[in-house]
Amino acid sequence: MTSALGARDKMMLAAVLYGKEDLRMERVAVPRAGVGEIVLRVGAALTCGTDLKVYRRGYHAMMLKPPIPFGHELAGVVVEVGAGVKQFREGDRVVPLNSAPCDKCYWCGRGQQNLCEDLLFNNGAYAEYMRIPARIVEKNTLAIPDGMPLEHAALTEPLACVMRGLEESGAKAQDTMVVIGAGPIGLMFLHAAELAGVRVIAVVKREDQVEAARLFGAAEVVRVGDSDDLVAEVRALTPAGRGADVVIEAVATPKTWEQAVGMVRKGGVVNFFGGPPSGTVVALDTNRLHYGDITLKASFHHTPATARRAFELLKSGRFKCREYITGTAGLAEVPRLFAGMMVRGAGAVNGGLAIADGSERMEIKTAVFPGGHEG
Ligand SMILES: [Zn+2]
Ligand SMILES: [Zn+2]
Repeated sequence: MTSALGARDKMMLAAVLYGKEDLRMERVAVPRAGVGEIVLRVGAALTCGTDLKVYRRGYHAMMLKPPIPFGHELAGVVVEVGAGVKQFREGDRVVPLNSAPCDKCYWCGRGQQNLCEDLLFNNGAYAEYMRIPARIVEKNTLAIPDGMPLEHAALTEPLACVMRGLEESGAKAQDTMVVIGAGPIGLMFLHAAELAGVRVIAVVKREDQVEAARLFGAAEVVRVGDSDDLVAEVRALTPAGRGADVVIEAVATPKTWEQAVGMVRKGGVVNFFGGPPSGTVVALDTNRLHYGDITLKASFHHTPATARRAFELLKSGRFKCREYITGTAGLAEVPRLFAGMMVRGAGAVNGGLAIADGSERMEIKTAVFPGGHEG
């Protein structure tokens, strides 16, 4: 076992979630690497809608009970390598995914590792250092090439979810896709689709999202509230008015789930990418579903394979990482950042996407730099 941690680095600053909207910065022990594990100095950690949801609820069904180390999108530098780790060395820049499957259960055996019954999660990105469990080191940690900013590499996790959703939707180049919702995930989805050659119609709520949707590649943008019949307005923008080949729902409300079904063409696919709270019920027209031969599906999380494809896309430089990360913050600002996100829906201590006329700033994702910005 080797370590670059000095004697003075025994304690560190970390964000810990104690419950509903109760996020505290604490001094905790720097983690050490056990067998098969590595410890990273966190270079960049990104805010995420899932973190905001957990912050609002005070817990996460699949990630332990409070107090919980917080944050799951990150990239960093290896500072300690546990016994038995062969593929990484001190000083390597890496992006660890936030989970890894067992590769032994029924779902893993069918290539649905996102549904693994023993999916191992790892949280604690808003900290100076983070321990990566052996299974994630072995199966889901990727080496970052020189010159790629750590905060760009940290986009691998959300993009891995999006890539899986995109692939599962069966969309091909030249297809028409409707993406309902222009929050961080909706924008990421429409950008990934556009880069795959898909023609995207974005359905957005706010004025600042109109510009953002265009920036990330939407061919058409429809604003909710500009028409009495949103479904008809969107269908009118599809070839021959027959409806979209694929509709992606990324808002997570019963109303938008129902609208998604109204916007798809016969034989098309709807992917419910946003998950409403459990117990939510929707009403769908069975006639339209049956005689329209419509496929309804949902997708959750990512697999090691989609994580790699997401990382390749980020490495290609085609994804607009710079525009997507709209703010920066220091580690001590994390509690304030989340309190602000509760008010604004997204959050940045500094920054915001500059909209053409300068009137509004769309906040998408904030990069937290525990050790200051590397540049
Ligand atoms: Zn995330
Ligand atoms: Zn499994």
